[in-house]
Amino acid sequence: MGKLDAFSEIIERQTPASNLTWLRVGGPVDVARPRSEKELADLLKACRADGVEARALGDGSNLLIPDDGSARLAVRLSEPAFGRLELDSPRIVAGAGVKLGRLATAAASAGLAGVEGLIGVPGEVGAGVALNVSTHDVSIGQWVESARVVGYDGEPRDMSHDDFVFGYRGVAFTNAIVVSVTFRLDPDSPEELAKRLQKIWIARKKQIPELLDGEGVARMFKNPIGQNAAELVDAINYRGVAVGGAKVSDSDPNLVVVKRGCSHKDVQRLLDAIQTEARERLGVELERELENW
Ligand SMILES: Cc1cc2nc3c(=O)[nH]c(=O)nc-3n(C[C@H](O)[C@H](O)[C@H](O)COP(=O)(O)OP(=O)(O)OC[C@H]3O[C@@H](n4cnc5c(N)ncnc54)[C@H](O)[C@@H]3O)c2cc1C
Repeated sequence: MGKLDAFSEIIERQTPASNLTWLRVGGPVDVARPRSEKELADLLKACRADGVEARALGDGSNLLIPDDGSARLAVRLSEPAFGRLELDSPRIVAGAGVKLGRLATAAASAGLAGVEGLIGVPGEVGAGVALNVSTHDVSIGQWVESARVVGYDGEPRDMSHDDFVFGYRGVAFTNAIVVSVTFRLDPDSPEELAKRLQKIWIARKKQIPELLDGEGVARMFKNPIGQNAAELVDAINYRGVAVGGAKVSDSDPNLVVVKRGCSHKDVQRLLDAIQTEARERLGVELERELENW
């Protein structure tokens, strides 16, 4: 009997990937939903002891799961203990499971500026900080004062801003699960912030109509330094191009949208083809943003 058997109450076996990721592609995954930091730490220790690879799963907006599923145990911080938002102006403490949109609106209504540009960015605070989500207006890392994390070895620890390396989409942060984050923001007028929030939200929805149509969607590539991935995909004429059920978005060529019946392979083949063309025709190495499990 393995140590993980003690956690059967919080582990859902063979959950379809369609319920876990924005792309809704891929096979089943085992998902654990710990109810407290202590349970998370004990779960990760049990994974170590049993030789099972655990990996944090957020809202699944940046993940591609293989057609035959993933051998990893996905650890989903979706229980109430990880969904709290506490205001202590000019700080906000957010659980890892809080959606970025909720953080942006809560901060704006409390008259705190900084993270309003995250409205409309898919995902949760935990992954947002681990990946340092950014837009034209904001990079989440710049507002992080500290964070509570649990290492994949099951050891909790506190991290200060300087313990992170907030690079462009891809903090060196794969050895721990973020549990909660303290943001220190700038006081501002709630009325002004509400207007700004609305403007950003409208612009974002216009830019990505697929979000309104409820299609499976994901971002494909990181912007190479000084360049824009969407423009590069356009330059090799891949806007609207489809491989099987996976298609480059007509509205934003750095998005892949999928139709029902699309497979992991279709998405892979499309991304491979774009990377090859970009290399051969433009001499550019497009690095994937979408993470393959
Ligand atoms: C339509 C669309 C638009 C997008 N626009 C932007 C944009 O403007 N800017 C931008 O930066 N990104 C953008 N993205 C990408 C996506 O929003 C981010 O990558 C987001 O951070 C993913 O969050 P998630 O909760 O969905 O994470 P997931 O996809 O579930 O996981 C992503 C990674 O984070 C890790 N992770 C998850 N939770 C935790 C945790 N608690 N602690 C540590 N690691 C964790 C996972 O293990 C995985 O490695 C966009 C995606 C889509 C689909």
